[in-house]
Amino acid sequence: MSFICPKIVHQPSAMQTLATSYRHARQIIGFVPTMGCLHEGHLSLMREAKKQCDIVIVSIFVNPLQFGPKEDFSTYPRTFERDLELCSQAGVDVVFAPTPKELYPSDFTFKVLGGPLANLYCGASRPGFFDGVLTVVSILFHLTKPHKAFFGEKDFQQLFLVKQLARQLFFSVDVIGMPIVREHNQLAMSSRNHYLSEEQKNSDALVLYNTLCLLQKQVSNGCLETSVLRQHALELQKQVPSFECDYIAFVHESTFEPVQQVIPNHTRLLLAGYLTQTSRVRLIDNGRL
Ligand code: AMP
Repeated sequence: MSFICPKIVHQPSAMQTLATSYRHARQIIGFVPTMGCLHEGHLSLMREAKKQCDIVIVSIFVNPLQFGPKEDFSTYPRTFERDLELCSQAGVDVVFAPTPKELYPSDFTFKVLGGPLANLYCGASRPGFFDGVLTVVSILFHLTKPHKAFFGEKDFQQLFLVKQLARQLFFSVDVIGMPIVREHNQLAMSSRNHYLSEEQKNSDALVLYNTLCLLQKQVSNGCLETSVLRQHALELQKQVPSFECDYIAFVHESTFEPVQQVIPNHTRLLLAGYLTQTSRVRLIDNGRL
């Protein structure tokens, strides 16, 4: 089968001009922001964008602003040629791949601050992370001018904050959340899984998914008290010595407010931690209770 190679755009101004021309031609623009090292999770967003829109733009940009000084910006997996091939197979029209210098010139000083929620959960252990995400997403929205933007529920807090960003800063974009795509063994797909050995992927890395399943079962058996559920989750996680828990949170799906009692079908369990066996690899997962 032959695929048409997407247009590759590096310059922000060229991206903006192209997006404006699509708008003038009354094309519906779908946008999928990524940091590359693409996998089926990313492709599911692209395919949905293809279904709902006339033009699909994918950005591939490892955003320095969202990495802490001790985090993996320099080692984050970069697989641009393979990513292009996958975008081509998914029918992507434009790949926007700026360099950090192009997106953040030396006199760049502004930031979008996500407010209190950006400092909780993933934001508590990664200070500045969500401000970095929301800043780059704002810039990318201005450059790609999407009607619809597609984000994964894998990063549930990020999805919620991007929806807030679009609403509160009046971006006229519809932010669409898509379900988590998992490996056959149910590990949530992630570019950072590249850091894990096959053995880790099939055992210790499943600790978050196993926690989710355990609590889903307990909730369906009528246990709704989050303090009790948290205790059971910690007991399960303690059985994996290479795992270090970051947080276990229970929030209302539509408000992100913490809940003491699970409201079945309206509560999200958010999980994060680190596998510490060789290097320190951050894992996140979540699911509805
Ligand atoms: P990233 O390249 O990690 O910044 O992710 C780009 C987009 O893909 C974000 O909206 C993620 O939530 C989404 N994504 C990443 N992994 C998955 C997955 N396993 N399932 C669904 N969406 C995902």
